[in-house]
Amino acid sequence: TSQQMTIKAAVTREKGGAFQLEDLTLRAPREDEVLIKIVATGMCHTDLIVRDQLYPVPLPAVLGHEGAGVVEAVGPAVTSLNVGDHVVLSYAYCGDCHACDAGHASYCEAFFARNFSGEGPDGEQAIRDADGQPVHDHFFGQSSFATYALSRENNAVRVSREAPLELLGPLGCGIQTGAGAVINTLRVTPGSRFCAFGAGAVGLSAVMAARIAGATTIIAVDMIDSRLELALELGATHVIHAGRGSVVERVREIAGGGVNFALESTGRPEVLRQGIDALGGLGVLGVVGAPALGTEAAFDVNDLLLGGKSIRGIVEGDSVARRFIPQLVELYMQGRFPFDKLVTFYDFADIEQAAADSEQGITLKPVLRQS
Ligand code: NAD
Ligand code: ZN
Repeated sequence: TSQQMTIKAAVTREKGGAFQLEDLTLRAPREDEVLIKIVATGMCHTDLIVRDQLYPVPLPAVLGHEGAGVVEAVGPAVTSLNVGDHVVLSYAYCGDCHACDAGHASYCEAFFARNFSGEGPDGEQAIRDADGQPVHDHFFGQSSFATYALSRENNAVRVSREAPLELLGPLGCGIQTGAGAVINTLRVTPGSRFCAFGAGAVGLSAVMAARIAGATTIIAVDMIDSRLELALELGATHVIHAGRGSVVERVREIAGGGVNFALESTGRPEVLRQGIDALGGLGVLGVVGAPALGTEAAFDVNDLLLGGKSIRGIVEGDSVARRFIPQLVELYMQGRFPFDKLVTFYDFADIEQAAADSEQGITLKPVLRQS
């Protein structure tokens, strides 16, 4: 276990700082760990809020949590994966707590520790920098802004070799979050009315899923015209530009009194409020957008109460990744879930450009190619 390999990874050394490509060393897989040769990694808004320290992952750290690649080596306790398997990496969970036992691993009691602590369950890092100093890792059980990454067997999801592996990484977080919120959590029903507040990668995945689920009114709200145009292409029946007039009034007008289901993916408390106000009676608002820790939101208590409305927090679309990701791959292969329309590829060396384009709304879902 003292074996080490050299990898190239993007290191975030300071709050808001650049992703810097460095040569680092990574130790060999132990026990149920799997070593993945990363082919491509999606960039999610969560990588950026961690870089900016809205979520306090200790720095320096290797971020990246939408990795896809090929199994290069397995630890001695691994039974279900083999060298050469194509895998998509998803979030980490303990597999042993009440929530995991109940089939809801995205609410694992150790979720924050496993995904955001910057260390493994043993309290150590597997990555060292050129000076031999540890670099925080295990981000979402992977730290996949790297040419190689360690995950555990239970968060490396085998996918079909027929599917284009370089495209699949975003299924591990952003895409399964939006699609899973609609399919697994809200359980949007045929003939229903749905509204996505925010039409980024998460919101547009929700729009595609709402079409699959049979919603007949699908509204997308955003500030960026190109995203609203794409929403129409992906199944939205109506779009609303958030900067032009009252969003709540428009949604209620289009949906004849309010929507049955809504999803907040902007991370803004005032939009969360709009989401509640735009619900019809017995409507449910799913909340996935992540503001800084400690952020509070306000709403009208009697509107919630008299309308029988619900607000539901959602992590990773309640997805059981080993089941849901292959389903999304199948839907993609059948042409019913064209999430490739959200993706723009970048060379790994252009990671800073990818982050800038994402923040400026030029790129919806950057995917970095490591090989
Ligand atoms: P994104 O930046 O691509 O999408 C956010 C969208 O909201 C953008 O298109 C933006 O133009 C739009 N927006 C901003 N202000 C708005 C307003 N006032 N009204 C309407 N739209 C507005 O980000 P993303 O990758 O789609 O992620 C969305 C959010 O979900 C982020 O906060 C991310 O951290 C979070 N996230 C949560 C989970 C989870 O498990 N809960 C998983 C992945 C991502
Ligand atoms: Zn993410």
